[in-house]
Amino acid sequence: MSSETIKTPEFSALMRKRGIDLSGRRILLTRLTGSEQEKDLSEPANCKGFGRIRHFRFNSSEDWSDNPLPIYPALRALGLKQTAELRAQVFQNAVCNWRCWYCYVDFNRLNGDRRYSEFMSAPDLVDLLHEANPDACMVDLSGGQPDLTPEWVPWVMRELTDRGLAEKYFLWSDDNLSNDYFWRFLSRDDIDIIRSYPMYGRVGCFKGFDERSFTFNTTAPPEDFAQQFDLFSRLVAEGIDLYAYVTFTTPFGDGIADGMTKFCDMLQNVHRNLPLRTVPLKVAPFTPVKSRMKADHERSITIQHEVHSAWLDELSRRFSAVERKVSICNVAIR
Ligand code: SF4
Repeated sequence: MSSETIKTPEFSALMRKRGIDLSGRRILLTRLTGSEQEKDLSEPANCKGFGRIRHFRFNSSEDWSDNPLPIYPALRALGLKQTAELRAQVFQNAVCNWRCWYCYVDFNRLNGDRRYSEFMSAPDLVDLLHEANPDACMVDLSGGQPDLTPEWVPWVMRELTDRGLAEKYFLWSDDNLSNDYFWRFLSRDDIDIIRSYPMYGRVGCFKGFDERSFTFNTTAPPEDFAQQFDLFSRLVAEGIDLYAYVTFTTPFGDGIADGMTKFCDMLQNVHRNLPLRTVPLKVAPFTPVKSRMKADHERSITIQHEVHSAWLDELSRRFSAVERKVSICNVAIR
């Protein structure tokens, strides 16, 4: 392991300590106002600077796969008609244990730095949501890495349920698949709430398609790549409505086809159908990213298209055209 890679267990513990107030049942949320990320927002930050509106689009790029997440699971849960775009209310927790060079969040908003963040309880968050965005139908608990503070999701679920709002909002959260905090810090009651909450979906993010790209992207050690699949398997076994993202940026132009074959094998070791629940994300240089980019990163933005082609080849080799057309929500992975 390079001396420059992150020690995930230690750094996770530090970030968790900064990111949660257990006795007050509060989560450290990022203040978006004044950030570089704010320059990329299509609507001004809301919820007193702690929230933002995100427009999820099914087809945002001509040269990339469509992205049905979280549009399809949300529309299904809400009983709404198909649409190509969904407007969601997003909150970000203020800690992450990895440092992906392409992260669209300012790194100083991932450190649990109290200059750019504030502790908020679930009642605080729901109050802000009601004040600023009463018509929202979807809430995205994002980050940062929400699962460093896994209590956040069941706390919000309980609050919405207590206020009779459990059916008003579809809840979505993401997870960088870096630790077992879900099982270490949640009670069985918490996990049961998450499992049985009907308006919830979750996405796990594979941060590369092989160890080299994973470490290049995250600064985490290469062995954490295989661990992502183990953690994903454990979440599937819990019966959560689970999906996957993957990023394909890599500075290495060799071994792409072979690496993609192995990546798809690893997905299929979790479940034969998992590639059909996996959505590739095209990396683009948002404002906070630009100052981090060096020649390797520029190259990786170009090479991701070759990797994406290899992904499409593997999908057509492994699944029939009919299987590839099944709505992502209806792909069984249990
Ligand atoms: S894991 Fe997510 S929040 Fe953390 S640095 Fe990577 S992209 Fe950003």
